[in-house]
Amino acid sequence: MALTGPRDFIRPLVQRLQPYIPGEQPKISGLVKLNTNENPYPPSPKVLAAIKQAADGRLRLYPNPTAQPLREKLAKFHDCKPENIIVGNGSDELLAMAVRAFVEPAIVTKSRMRTRTAGKSVVQFFHPSYSLYPVLAAMHGARANAVPLEPDFGLAPVRALKRGKQWDFRAALSFITTPNAPSGHGYSTADLQQLCELQTGVVVLDEAYVDFAEENGLSLSLKYPHVLVARTFSKAYSLCFQRVGYVVGPRELIAALDKIRDSYNVNGLGQIAAMATLDELPYYRKNFQKIVATRRRLSPMLAELGFEVFPSQANFILVRPPQYAAWAWLQKLREHKILVRWFDDTTLWDFLRISIGTPNEVDALVKAARAILR
Ligand code: PMP
Repeated sequence: MALTGPRDFIRPLVQRLQPYIPGEQPKISGLVKLNTNENPYPPSPKVLAAIKQAADGRLRLYPNPTAQPLREKLAKFHDCKPENIIVGNGSDELLAMAVRAFVEPAIVTKSRMRTRTAGKSVVQFFHPSYSLYPVLAAMHGARANAVPLEPDFGLAPVRALKRGKQWDFRAALSFITTPNAPSGHGYSTADLQQLCELQTGVVVLDEAYVDFAEENGLSLSLKYPHVLVARTFSKAYSLCFQRVGYVVGPRELIAALDKIRDSYNVNGLGQIAAMATLDELPYYRKNFQKIVATRRRLSPMLAELGFEVFPSQANFILVRPPQYAAWAWLQKLREHKILVRWFDDTTLWDFLRISIGTPNEVDALVKAARAILR
């Protein structure tokens, strides 16, 4: 059959795909950037020095293919074996690899096997959470099962999930963002454990923001055969630019992920930066504390102006602004040179997500909000 245009070269699945939309990285300077949950503090001077020192003639060489020295350092940090860890080009890469490694594309189940393979092609997550998950499912031709969180963004008790019948306890892969994004709602390890124990497929606890939270689920990934924890150097460790994330979990699942990994998936300077970061933990812990303190200061200031502020255990807060629609606030704040995030998603229509900046940056936000309300 004759081709009618370049579109014919593209798989129907890709033609239909709604891609993930990252937050804006503005070209103009002088904006207060509170839209992509970046850390407002720079990496430690020792980390910057390590990157600079490594930028020489060695750039012609391939980096360590498995990021082995970093895996070893991370294993010490988390009291596990290097075989329990895989490093990725940001945790996003590893989330995508988990879909490819553990989920059958839906087409496979469109047969008499359907009942026996139920759940095998399901990528499951709570809604709202990280908007990348449905895109990963769609890309893979898997079925996405988005299950609403409670109105306060809490997890429904497992009794209610069982009764509700929408949550699939046999899903091939369930992503749980903990603490939740974009609400910042923290989940207790006990609740996560209870849910993990009932799942028959793989569970990925996406802990991108966990350093700002009260609890973490790392112990679950070292206890159960089907639980993985995803972490990143991007947020808490001020390294978005370098793209380094990792997953901790049972060695068999890590080995499966490793099989489908690109040979040199983590760039050399990223490996060096991440290793230097692990030598500087006290510097970063001070920054976590500063960010949490700023979050605690900002929340009541916005509440006083009439914003509904949701409790957060992350480096951002979700708010329902007063007087104008949330998207109008997005524009008005931008006119005041403040960038925040609004999601074009019906559940999140009325909300803004504000990343926690430096004390000066959040003061500028409050000043702009006051001016808008005047
Ligand atoms: N998980 C969540 C919940 C996130 O918000 C992000 C950042 N957008 C990531 C994972 C990915 O982070 P990175 O790829 O920078 O490690």
